[in-house]
Amino acid sequence: MSSSQATPFPETIAGVRDFLRTIPTQTAKLRYILGLDSVENAPKLANSIVVNCIDTEHYEWDSSKLTEIGINTFASGDLRQHIANPGPNGENLLHQIYYYHFRMLPNAHCINKRFCPGNPENNRFGNTRFATYVQGKAMLEECFYWDVTAGRAQDGKCPTVVIGHALRNDADGLARTVGFEPEAADTVVAVIDTQQMAREMGIYNPAGARNEVGLRDLSAHFDIPYRDSHTAGNDAAYTTFSAIYMALYGRIMPTFTKSVLEVVDDVEKSSRLYSISDHGIPRYCTRCHAANHFLSGCRARLPPCEKCQARRRPEANGKLPDVHWFTKGRKAHRTEDCTWGSS
Ligand SMILES: [Zn+2]
Ligand SMILES: [Zn+2]
Repeated sequence: MSSSQATPFPETIAGVRDFLRTIPTQTAKLRYILGLDSVENAPKLANSIVVNCIDTEHYEWDSSKLTEIGINTFASGDLRQHIANPGPNGENLLHQIYYYHFRMLPNAHCINKRFCPGNPENNRFGNTRFATYVQGKAMLEECFYWDVTAGRAQDGKCPTVVIGHALRNDADGLARTVGFEPEAADTVVAVIDTQQMAREMGIYNPAGARNEVGLRDLSAHFDIPYRDSHTAGNDAAYTTFSAIYMALYGRIMPTFTKSVLEVVDDVEKSSRLYSISDHGIPRYCTRCHAANHFLSGCRARLPPCEKCQARRRPEANGKLPDVHWFTKGRKAHRTEDCTWGSS
């Protein structure tokens, strides 16, 4: 088949999906999307691919409670523009990505401290917003339904590629909570998992090849600083960086004068300036639910939690303990936010 022949794939989302299926590995798919490899007979619409990398967190004591969504979004064309000169450690590519972090309003008071500790206040990329499930779903829908031509709905939607690390867990959780399953969106043309890419690359779990590689070890392989992990915005970024590095460099990372640490520090700083979402709200107090301050600045006096009150047991003197500690102190909370007995 000569390269001048028209593509056998129709210029539709389904056509792009069928075309990507002909690229045998996930790494090769991402290399094509980033413009590292060209593939004959690609439909033109494939140039408009949008990539979303997703990570989520759930409350460790109740996995039905979604606490965070991290999502990194980029137009593949924005990265391809820099692919001839990606810069040290892909720096020029990483600056083209939008980094978003959402804490789910109804569960923002649920902080994982025990089994999978991660503090959402330590988000390092972009700016944290607080969103309801409905707002979270609207945000995801926006990320998965970009217009091919901004403002011209008649030109159709961009084909979308989803990246995740053990994405199945995140996708199931999103489907159960906000009611949006990323892989099932009808714009999705391919799903890429960094655990599968790592297998293709021969990067294994240090415990043995039979175990899936974790995000910590994958990040370490590429010298990506795995700071403030287990919060969704940071883990999404570490997943995106790992995926791009595997596509760019394969298994062996070249050495640049500018270190990965320096590149990531710069990306953190600049991402806060341009990754601005208008979904949800920028401030929220998980203690009193006001939208004009954070927990650290809360001075509100709360009515005593009814559940905690009911659970009081008499002290040695036969009297019930005072309710003071849960009306004024840092541990004070509203009845509906009570996590008594679970942390
Ligand atoms: Zn407050
Ligand atoms: Zn309580």
